[in-house]
Amino acid sequence: MGNLKEYNQKRDFKKTKEPYGSKNSGKSKKLKYIIQHHMARREHYDLRLEYNGVFISFAVPKGPSFNTKDKRLAVKVEDHPLSYGNFEGTIPKGEYGGGTVMLWDKGTWEPHFKPDFKKGPIKFTINGKRIKGDYTLVKFKDDNWLLIKEKDEFVSNVKITKFKTSIKTDRTMNEISNNEVKEDLDDIEITHPDKIIIPKGHITKKDIITYYKLVAKRMFPFLENRLISTIRCPDGVNGEIFYMKHLNTDSKNIGKKLVKDKDSQNKDYYYIKNALGLIEEVQMNSYEFHIWGCKQNSTNKPDILVFDFDPDEKLSLKKLRDGVKDLKKVLDKLKLKSYLKTSGGKGYHVFVPLKTTSWNKTEKIASNISEVMVNNNPSKYTINMRKEKREGKIFIDYFRNKKGATSVSPYSIRLKDNAPISCPISWKELDLIKPQSITIKNIKDRLKKKDAWANFFNN
Ligand code: MN
Repeated sequence: MGNLKEYNQKRDFKKTKEPYGSKNSGKSKKLKYIIQHHMARREHYDLRLEYNGVFISFAVPKGPSFNTKDKRLAVKVEDHPLSYGNFEGTIPKGEYGGGTVMLWDKGTWEPHFKPDFKKGPIKFTINGKRIKGDYTLVKFKDDNWLLIKEKDEFVSNVKITKFKTSIKTDRTMNEISNNEVKEDLDDIEITHPDKIIIPKGHITKKDIITYYKLVAKRMFPFLENRLISTIRCPDGVNGEIFYMKHLNTDSKNIGKKLVKDKDSQNKDYYYIKNALGLIEEVQMNSYEFHIWGCKQNSTNKPDILVFDFDPDEKLSLKKLRDGVKDLKKVLDKLKLKSYLKTSGGKGYHVFVPLKTTSWNKTEKIASNISEVMVNNNPSKYTINMRKEKREGKIFIDYFRNKKGATSVSPYSIRLKDNAPISCPISWKELDLIKPQSITIKNIKDRLKKKDAWANFFNN
């Protein structure tokens, strides 16, 4: 009993902050008990009972109950080291158990007779802060057990979901994951923080870094593993400007991907693996982020459809907004869920999440929709790129839906006066927010509110 080999094999300790598993030979006076609330791919509660120098562990999808009528599924998983009893934090996405772990309860436990974790049943008393009293674990098949509350003075109808904070740090799940990201980001060394990048508005490199740290969590789903290009300007917008399409760093947080271009040449495009990579890229003076419509591991399957509404300079804001609403109506009719953002430039952008399709199909959808709009209202819209054809009209730029084309990422700053942001907004805000009015200076309050694009990739 008590074997941490499986625990250690499942984890890459270069990537996760979970403790390395070594057996504790010392004997606790009382056997430790903990429960960790774990927001992994599937949310669950991990019940851990100290025995023979390790934590015997069960993943309980609904967690324990205070009600004797509930039989809760408890799946026996690999033994964990006792040092796991202090672990709270985030396990990187893609790693085993990736997600956020909260220390949800702790205390001691006492078996009523010598426990047999191979066969069960196990009758025991928990003495935790939130869970107390008698429980039984009954094995029914393979690793599947049932956790049942026994009759005692602690029986109640209270739901365990009432307890939403850590027993150790009093933090919520969101607070735990946000704090972790920030601690890591703060370790990156920033050179020339006081250099002014955008003179109008007096925006320094430090301002930009601080901003990206603040939005990293919201922005990252749109950057993660997605091929990108960036705009670098080491000496600010009045200095030399570089359009970065290819990898030039050896950071382990940034990856390289060979993609055949139209001349069948392999080129090494690049992508960011995690929030650290994002901040490292900003430290390298990349300030504006443009994304492909696909992920690096499926470059032939676009997952975002993009419409860029680019108005002629003379066009009124009202007409521009009416145009964006027209597009929404068309997309609604097609049952395509759409998301709105400011461009940070002259117009608005509409993004539509796509399920697996091809570039040809994506381009076809985009061009058909745009053509329908032009045909219905030729005086309002054009898909002709030539400037003289665009007078008084909105140019619907659907040409970004091609392999290798990019569009500005949600939450990227634009290298313009006052550092406007290409900022996700709700459809209700279309009439209230101008394309350039959300900037690095005023976005803070917005970030306290609900993210209008939170479910973008989950529908
Ligand atoms: Mn777990």
